[in-house]
This record gives sequence, structure tokens and C-alpha cells, in this order.
Amino acid sequence: MDKIIFDLIEKELSRQRHGIELIASENFTSQAVIDATGSCLTNKYAEGYPGKRYYGGCEIVDQIENIAIQRLCEVFGAEYANVQPHSGAQANAAVFLGVLKPGDPILGFDLSHGGHLSHGSAVNYSGLVYNANFYGVEPDTGLIDMDKVEAKALEVKPKLIICGASAYSRDWDYGRFRAIADKVGALLLADIAHPAGLIAAKLLNDPIPHCHIVTSTTHKTLRGPRGGVIIMGKDFENPWGKKTNKGATIMMSAILNSAVFPGMQGGPLEHVIAAKAVAFGEILSPSWKVYGQQVQANAQAMAGSFISKGYHIISGGTDNHLMLIDLRSKYPDLNGRQAEDALINADITINKNMVPFDSRSAFVTSGIRVGTAAITTRGFKEEDCLRVVDWIDTILGDINDEARIANIRDEINEYMTAFPLYEDKVTV
Ligand SMILES: *Cc1c(COP(=O)(O)O)cnc(C)c1O
Repeated sequence: MDKIIFDLIEKELSRQRHGIELIASENFTSQAVIDATGSCLTNKYAEGYPGKRYYGGCEIVDQIENIAIQRLCEVFGAEYANVQPHSGAQANAAVFLGVLKPGDPILGFDLSHGGHLSHGSAVNYSGLVYNANFYGVEPDTGLIDMDKVEAKALEVKPKLIICGASAYSRDWDYGRFRAIADKVGALLLADIAHPAGLIAAKLLNDPIPHCHIVTSTTHKTLRGPRGGVIIMGKDFENPWGKKTNKGATIMMSAILNSAVFPGMQGGPLEHVIAAKAVAFGEILSPSWKVYGQQVQANAQAMAGSFISKGYHIISGGTDNHLMLIDLRSKYPDLNGRQAEDALINADITINKNMVPFDSRSAFVTSGIRVGTAAITTRGFKEEDCLRVVDWIDTILGDINDEARIANIRDEINEYMTAFPLYEDKVTV
């Protein structure tokens, strides 16, 4: 055992146990997911796909990967799934590689309004290689105006339209996005990295019938291991007319599989794929809907309490598991970085986040993003969430009152002992 590293892992476990995790993109997997991730499968090379590998000895990982694919298709009522992307960004990059040529126009949600780096940001592969264009939210409502999305699509004639975000608390009108995509001859990609677990629980609009391709992470509301996936409700012929050498039509499933491997990645992480299968199995159990409903109820409770204390939530509330809070509404001089630093001193983890039309930079920001997926896994109910908002409000009321913040931290550490995490294990 490597004492240096395992001591640090234990410290991290202690941090996770004692704090309140409000980072909207995080969650706590089951012990079974951790066990699969930490298994001997990490030793296995399996380039290719089940039944068509470039290495021997893949009979068992083939079964595991097939189960992961079948379960994921069942979760979303999909016909096709690729469980190999190492992360959400890799899943998106593989889709782009498969369906676009360098320089092609794409249309995504503005990063500074809550979009994701991998949807065309200038510092990301997607923005460096493709001609990225963006839609955003309205300054007064914080909502996406679909007529403006349509006008932008008619103007830039994208080959690919991307819906989905990292910090947007409202549901998506996938049907309208599809109508716009059809009007301009674009493919429609939904990146459901954040709300996927709630979509799986049928608590939010379903992108599958409307979007050509859907990508997701597996570690946010899906509560699986760190990774990505690509799914399609229905396979379809490559619309850009590319054929095989023999003149046959290429199906999108073949294009996406080749884009992931060998296009984007080498060997798949079969230990992570096994953990994805475990997580998808958990999602297929009836208790998943109960979890999703509590995630939403907790987010509603938090949003209502923040609003009653004078904070402005972008778009005025939330439909999903997260909310973006504009701190300027209550404390014009307090920025997101200061809020994040003060809250971490009380063992509350959030992330600073730009708000739409932010007057401050991405390193400072005027907002914070909070989400309820992780605390709901810990067992928090609405009344616990109201306590959390009280603690946050007290801390932000005077970020320099170190004694008061230290007292709150002690109170929180004590509080969290009632919500056990990985109790049976000394080292996770
Ligand atoms: C988190 C996120 C991703 C990226 O996932 P990684 O696994 O960090 O690469 C992609 N798209 C959206 C919308 C996300 O929120």
C-alpha cells in the first residue's frame, strides 16, 4: 500500500463525509460503483467493441460492456448506446468528429450564460476546430427565447445545433429545437450531462424522441462513475451522404462508434464501464424516481428560501437540480470567488459561476451555482436544505467574521454525522 497516497485518500473521504456538497456536477456513487471502478478490470486492454476487439481475452469484458449498453438503452428507451467515452467532453468531441468537418458552423448555448466549454468555447477543441456560434438567455427573464434561437440558426446555418448546459435551471423545449434544426438542415445534439438522472426518472422533458444524438456524463445526476456516454433514440442514415468504399450507406451508429474508437480514444476503461453498468442498474430500480423527486423538491425548497432572503436566482427559480444565484442582488460588493472561499471555510462546497451578462470575469464572477444531487444522496430532505440556506446566508452576511464561520463549520461537521457516507469502509 502506498501510504502517502492512501493517507490522502482517507483525508479526502473525511472531507466528503464532514462537509455539505453543493457542487451541482457532483454526487456520491454507491459502494458497488466504487468497487467496480477499483477492480481488476483496469488491467484489461479491449480496443474495439464487444465481439470485435483488437486484443484477446475479452470474453468477460465483452459481457460487461454489453450489459452496460443494454441497461443504458433501457434507461432512456434508446436504440443505440456507446459507453466508452472517457468523459462528457470526450463524448461531445467524438460526436463533432463524427458528424462535422473542420470549419463547419455549429450553434450552441453561450458559455457565459451557462453553457459548456465543449460546445464551442474558443479555448476548447470544439471552438478551435469548428466555426462556433451561440444563443443565450434574455437579460430580463434569464430564459432562452426560442424565436431568437431560430433567427440565429437561420443566420449562421449550422450543421449541428447543441442544446443542453451546465448552469441553466430550466427545462428544454427539445421539440422546438428539432423544428429549428429541420428548418436549417442541421443535426440536433442534446447534451444532458446535468439533468440526465432526472430525465431518466421521467421528471423532465425527454430529449430522445426529438434529438438525433444525445450525450451525457455519467457522474452528475446519473450518480455513476466519472465518464461519458452517447445514445440515440433511433439509428439513422448519415445525412451528409458519406458511403462506405463499397457504396453502402453508413448508419450514424457506425459513424459514432468509429469516432469514439479509433477516432478519439484508444482502449476503453472497462473498470469504469463496469461501474457504469452498476449505476445504470441502480437507475432501473423503482427507488430511482423517489431519488429524483427528492432532488427536485430539495432544489425547490432551496430556491424558495434564497428568494425569500432577497437573492436573485437567474430565471426566477428552478425546474431541475440546480440554480444560479446572482449575488449582486443582495450583496453588490461580494463576488463569487469571495463567497466560494468563505463557504469552504465552513465546509460548504459550491462553485463560483458567471451569471449571464456578468460585470466580472470568469475568475471572479458575480454568482454561485448550487445543486442538490449530492446532498439528496446523503439523505437531505427539504428541512435540511432550509438549514443549509440559513448557514450560507449567515456566512455571506459577513465573510470576515472568522469566529462565526468556524462555529458554523463545527455545527455542520456534527450535523453531517447523521448522514453516513461509505460507513463500512475505512478506505474507499
Ligand atoms: C459537465 C459537462 C460536460 C463535461 O463533462 P466532463 O466529464 O467533465 O468532460 C459536458 N457537457 C456539459 C453540459 C456538462 O455540464
